[in-house]
Amino acid sequence: MDFGFTEEQERLRTEAVEFARNELASDLVARDAESGFDRELWRRCAEFGILGSNVPTEYGGQGRDVVTTVAIMEALGYGCPDNGLTLALNGQMWAVQEPIQQFGTEEQKERYLPLLISGGYGAHAMSEPASGSDTFALETTAEKTDGGYVLNGRKTYIGLAPVCDVALVFAATDPTVGRWGITAFLVEGDASGLTKGGNQPKMGLRTGPFGDLVLEDCFVPDSARLGPEGAGASIFTNSMDWERSFIFASHVGSMARQLDDVIQYARTRRQFGEPIGKFQSVSNRIADMRLRLETSRLLLYKAAWLLDSGDAAQLYSALAKLHLSESFVASSSDAIRIHGAKGYVSEYGVERDLRDALGGVIYSGTSDIQRQVIARLMGV
Ligand SMILES: Cc1cc2nc3c(=O)[nH]c(=O)nc-3n(C[C@H](O)[C@H](O)[C@H](O)COP(=O)(O)OP(=O)(O)OC[C@H]3O[C@@H](n4cnc5c(N)ncnc54)[C@H](O)[C@@H]3O)c2cc1C
Repeated sequence: MDFGFTEEQERLRTEAVEFARNELASDLVARDAESGFDRELWRRCAEFGILGSNVPTEYGGQGRDVVTTVAIMEALGYGCPDNGLTLALNGQMWAVQEPIQQFGTEEQKERYLPLLISGGYGAHAMSEPASGSDTFALETTAEKTDGGYVLNGRKTYIGLAPVCDVALVFAATDPTVGRWGITAFLVEGDASGLTKGGNQPKMGLRTGPFGDLVLEDCFVPDSARLGPEGAGASIFTNSMDWERSFIFASHVGSMARQLDDVIQYARTRRQFGEPIGKFQSVSNRIADMRLRLETSRLLLYKAAWLLDSGDAAQLYSALAKLHLSESFVASSSDAIRIHGAKGYVSEYGVERDLRDALGGVIYSGTSDIQRQVIARLMGV
């Protein structure tokens, strides 16, 4: 068992932190206030090779293994405090590109992977107004017709929906058989009958756009189907192993940055003639933040190691998703308390992490659902 990074991984992590600090710095407080998505930052990430890190070289990617890619994404989050941007990058990599890589035909891989990793936008569209946690209770339908399918329905709260070039859309091809009648489709952003909603205002993660996708008699050719008819639920479940395992990779980096910040603050902020770090109430919080960071890292890399090995990761992806999301909330809350009023006002950016973190206990399956998955997989 080896808990260290290789020299190459260390080098890539250092480069990612430097890239993030030099190329992704922006007036984040202002952009957060106006829910501004910066396409230029996305383009720079693509150019640096973030989106293509674990995509095979024949499609223009870097062909790196999962552990290395996750290590880079963690480092990116450490150097870049823009959680909305890093979440959107991770969402596209793990929940759109990965399913195309695994289940796509050669033609689909050649058409979409180079597009996405060079700065295109991909959305993963499952949730609907009436189907959130009850994932497979879809009302969106895909009716077979000559040469393709006609899709009708509405997808809600979809990351990158307002800007997407392609959306992985799940729809019922046979509503009478529940999850066995769900099929996945790659719907192009300019498809006739697809309407991309505007950027819906939200509590946090404001710098990553999200919104609705509406399908009204939207025709897609047979070649747009990802996997066989009826395989949509399996493709979704597999894609959740990846998304839940790694969508927080960059937020773990954020937790490491938070820790550096609070240590620095606890050493320099003085009250009652002493640095506040001398007070055990403050230092205990910092110790708890370190513990959450370490346990989060262990789960993150355990899941990465499992998926690199080709092992089943459903249990560890649920454990990772639950623990990382709740840890980010708890540590963001501790960071605010340690900073006092400076933590609460917007100008220092400390409070933004908590608003961003709270989204994490909802997307990709709520914490309640992760606990259910974990209990079920243990035979409870
Ligand atoms: C920031 C953000 C980004 C998102 N991005 C995407 C995206 O890119 N693509 C996409 O498809 N979706 C996305 N979503 C939607 C997300 O996946 C759903 O919001 C989530 O699955 C929960 O569904 P819901 O909101 O309908 O809540 P509901 O399912 O209505 O749940 C409401 C409450 O009831 C609880 N609950 C429900 N069922 C059970 C149960 N069986 N046992 C115990 N408790 C239960 C839930 O835990 C929750 O507390 C995103 C959401 C957010 C907030």
